[in-house]
Order: sequence, then C-alpha cells, then structure tokens
Amino acid sequence: MSPTTPFNSFVRDVPDFPKEGILFRDITPLLANAEAVEAMAQPVLALQPTHVLGLESRGFIFGSALAQKLGVGFVPARKPGKLPMATFNESYGLEYGSDALEIHTDAFKAGDRVLIVDDVMATGGTAAAAQRLVQRTGAQPLALTVFIELTSLPGREKVEGLPVFSVLRY
Ligand code: AMP
Repeated sequence: MSPTTPFNSFVRDVPDFPKEGILFRDITPLLANAEAVEAMAQPVLALQPTHVLGLESRGFIFGSALAQKLGVGFVPARKPGKLPMATFNESYGLEYGSDALEIHTDAFKAGDRVLIVDDVMATGGTAAAAQRLVQRTGAQPLALTVFIELTSLPGREKVEGLPVFSVLRY
C-alpha cells in the first residue's frame, strides 16, 4: 500500500530530546494519520498471531490498534511496579543506566504466538527484553513490528531469530 502522502513527512525529527545527542523521532503526527496502522498491519496479517504484546508506552497505541485489526487480544508490557499480580521482569541497558519491562506470569501460555509491537527500534534492547519475557511464559515470540527502524544501530542483531518488520527505516 502506498500512502497518499509519504509517511516520513509525518515523523518529526527533534534534536537533543530527551537528552543531548539523541535525534528523537516524534511519531505523534503519524498517530493522526489514518493510514499508518494499515501500513503496519499489511506485512504481518499472514503471520496469524494469537496475541499482540505492546511495549510501554507508544507500543500500546500502535499495538492495540493492530490487535483489533488482526482480531486478537492485546497484552501490555509495562514498566516495573505497574502490574498488580506476579510478574516476569527483564531489564535492558540504556545509554545511561538501565530500565526494565514486566508482564504477568500468566499473560501467555505455551503455544501462544506473540507479535511484539513498538513505535521505534533503536538499539533493540527494549525489543530483546520483550522477546525474553515472552519466552519465559513458554509462548513463541513470532515477530517484532515497529513503525520506525533505526538501521544505523544493530537492533536486528539484538533480537536474533526474531523477524523484524518496519514501515520506515532511517
Ligand atoms: P531501544 O531499546 O534502544 O531499541 O529503544 C527503543 C525504545 O526507545 C522505543 O520504545 C522507542 O520509543 C524509544 N526510542 C529510542 N530511540 C528513539 C528515537 N531516536 N526516537 C524516538 N524514540 C526512540
């Protein structure tokens, strides 16, 4: 599907946000574009996931829309301390320090096929943590889909064995 207007005109480059040296890809205008979710869905329609796992927080927006489109349920991977029941926790390195994601231990069961969704893949650390979370439940991480992939960083190497789909690559 070709968009009416190229998608890259809906991504704003914000230098030095949220800290110096980071070129932030602001996807807020993309969320207002009715064609964006359709473009993300097309390459993954045939994968037949049983669930979408959306990564906090912009992965919740794309992920829940995709889940609806694919006709499957949505599971949130949250920052630590937000989920009320027993969780699995996986941490990952950031440029300065580290962060972590959690899911409920009963979020998936063996045999579930999980499509992981986020807005941007940079270093791949966040996505790799999500991949490990799914594996810990016994379910299968099926693929990762993001709107934007920063190809100057080795994100795909971090999520080894996981197919990656992206609409825009920088
Ligand atoms: P990473 O773990 O390095 O792949 O970073 C991915 C997460 O950080 C995603 O949830 C993105 O929302 C966010 N992120 C990282 N780098 C950028 C960037 N340059 N522009 C916008 N979001 C980013």
